Amino acid sequence: MKILVTGAAGFIGSHVVDSYLLAGHEVAALDDLSSGSTANLPSEVRLFVGDIADPTFVAGVFADFQPEIINHHAAQASVTVSTKNPLLDARTNVLGMLTLLEAARVTPSFKKFIYATTGGAMYGNPETLPCPEEHAANPISPYGLSKHTAERYLWMYASLHGLKATVLRYANVYGPRQAVHGEAGVCAIFVDRMLAGQPVTLFGDGTQTRDYVYVGDVARANLLALEKGDGEAMNIGTGIATSTNEVFATIKEATGYALAPEIKPLRPGEIQDSYLDASKAERVLGWQAEALFKDGIAQTVAWARQRA
Ligand code: NAD
Repeated sequence: MKILVTGAAGFIGSHVVDSYLLAGHEVAALDDLSSGSTANLPSEVRLFVGDIADPTFVAGVFADFQPEIINHHAAQASVTVSTKNPLLDARTNVLGMLTLLEAARVTPSFKKFIYATTGGAMYGNPETLPCPEEHAANPISPYGLSKHTAERYLWMYASLHGLKATVLRYANVYGPRQAVHGEAGVCAIFVDRMLAGQPVTLFGDGTQTRDYVYVGDVARANLLALEKGDGEAMNIGTGIATSTNEVFATIKEATGYALAPEIKPLRPGEIQDSYLDASKAERVLGWQAEALFKDGIAQTVAWARQRA
């Protein structure tokens, strides 16, 4: 199939590109390189550099490549940036989605839209754990709201224009190529700092839990979504609650880190526990997270070592 991956030069998007290429699909990449890098992409992949919220640019890409599948990973993906600059966040995440939808619906080759969104920031402070898809959307950041609003636009276009779509709501994704600058995931930060022998900070007592899903498993969900899951939104997580203390201990062991963590007070508004019920993805896609946390961390550390 001809697949256009947006955000393809980023952390998760680049792994999705790899899995589609390996399965024999024809892939083109769209990215403005604002946080992504061409180093994440194989050189044979055609890259369109530009902004998903620019209608002229996007229409040109669709007319040129004639995609059958849109796999949408491009985003302003930082909660902190979204709070500081909600206009930029909404422009990229909401207007970007609308621009892609407008182009998709008039492209004759277009067959299906796959949208990557957040299962953490969208549900907010979960009332049920593990958190199922039916949980109310209760975003507590502009990022959570913009990603959720984009999903609502997608479902509206699905019903107004008959577009086929699948939505994947990710837990906390970790693995090779995750950026360590700006607002990175805790695994990427800990791996980077521990390998460099630098101090690592824990907030509060470290008992807060999250659902850490390995990027290779996430890429496999995107592969399965090519054929299955039409009209469905599914959580993509492990269903396992891993505390920050466990993250620290696992990465400490994998890197041979010798220092004790620095303890700072809990940040205001931090959610204590968040992990996802991913049983629907198992039923609908036949998908389950496979990587054990310690194995995913070993892969991440090996990648960070050879990059250093
Ligand atoms: P990332 O920052 O590595 O990737 C985002 C990519 O989008 C980058 O390559 C960036 O250059 C590109 N981009 C940003 N604005 C753009 C624009 N206006 N036009 C074109 N390209 C643009 O982030 P990631 O962690 O790989 O996230 C990918 C997707 O997964 C995002 O949609 C994010 O909301 C979602 N997600 C990520 C996580 C996670 O744990 N990392 C969890 C839930 C959901």
